Amino acid sequence: MTWSVWLVPPMITSIFFVLGVITLYWSIFNWATAKAESQNKPVNVKRVQTIVGVVCAVTSVFALQLIVRDSHLSWTFTNFQLLLLIFVAYFLQVKIPYWVVFLAGIAFMLLNGNINQPLSWVYTALFGLFYVVSYIQSTHLWRAPFTRYAAVAIAFAAPLWYLVKVRLHLTWSTYFDEMINYLLLVVLMYGYFKIQDKDRRIKDRLFRSANWDTLTKVQNFAAYDRAIGYEFHQSAAHDRDLSMIMFDIDHFKRVNDTYGHLAGDEVLKQVVRTVTNTLKDIDPKIVLYRTGGEEFNIIFPEYSVEQTRDVAQRVFDAVKNKTIAYNDVEINVTISIGVSALSLKDSNPLDFYKRVDANLYHSKQNGRQQITVG
Ligand code: GH3
Ligand code: MG
Ligand code: MG
Repeated sequence: MTWSVWLVPPMITSIFFVLGVITLYWSIFNWATAKAESQNKPVNVKRVQTIVGVVCAVTSVFALQLIVRDSHLSWTFTNFQLLLLIFVAYFLQVKIPYWVVFLAGIAFMLLNGNINQPLSWVYTALFGLFYVVSYIQSTHLWRAPFTRYAAVAIAFAAPLWYLVKVRLHLTWSTYFDEMINYLLLVVLMYGYFKIQDKDRRIKDRLFRSANWDTLTKVQNFAAYDRAIGYEFHQSAAHDRDLSMIMFDIDHFKRVNDTYGHLAGDEVLKQVVRTVTNTLKDIDPKIVLYRTGGEEFNIIFPEYSVEQTRDVAQRVFDAVKNKTIAYNDVEINVTISIGVSALSLKDSNPLDFYKRVDANLYHSKQNGRQQITVG
């Protein structure tokens, strides 16, 4: 059986096409974000969305048109093109500059070989306007979003399909068939995208709560563990420096015992703020992790131990000079620090961690309020 006699109603094909494009988009999107996360790179969700979405949509629109452009069926994929427009403008909220929309319209007419026909220009202008209105609508939190979405989708598709009908001498019955198919797909796309998007939001929230500390708003031990694993292997593979700071607040129990647990929480938050501000001034790429109750680690990729010692001194001074106000009391705390660099003897990240921890322990044993490097 060849595919020409493989009779599947067009509506079924359309449904699977729409579901397929959205699924393809989500698969690539999830793959790209998971890859970035595993490499411990910050993920700009909006950017990934834009790139993946535009590539999927533009490829589909142009590829489809290439298949049919010279045949009497050059209108076959009109619905798909309209749906892809909605997908990019409304769901992905991809902001394409107006001049790019215009140029894409011209390119499309050239591809279709109908740039000399006034009706094509009307069609292209309407198509561009459809994009702009869909995009604007998606970025506003207006009431009754679904009704608005469907209304705009119909308001533009009806004249666009009418132009196609006139130009290609289609019957009214074809016109209405296509419009009904289109409407069903518009509804289907809304539902399917919303389900997928909700899924992504849940995943996002889970990822955040699994990797970030709610009290101090810095990353936690799980995130540290992943980051040190990644940096350890990068440094070993490329023979690059890697060093680390670990610090612990001195006599923190006393703060809790004297001023109460909430005061202790406030001290933790302020110490974190002081340290992150200091680090931001020195090198915005450096990340502070809360790895324990009042214990923190800072990873320094491509830093020698001497460079890291200087940073440790600045962090130490910043905390020491900070007075924390809590209700009517003023609290001063100090920290003890351990510093070390990756050594050839370290066969895994834990070996490295243990040495930094031992240096911190040394600072504590030696009377606290000091830095041990080794
Ligand atoms: P040292 O100088 O030896 O570090 O003395 P320390 O009192 O800081 O010793 P230790 O590390 O044993 O005590 C840490 C205390 O930190 C114990 C725990 O009650 C407290 N702590 C841990 N997490 C939190 C928190 O989120 N909030 C508050 N308020 N206290 C916490
Ligand atoms: Mg302590
Ligand atoms: Mg401790």
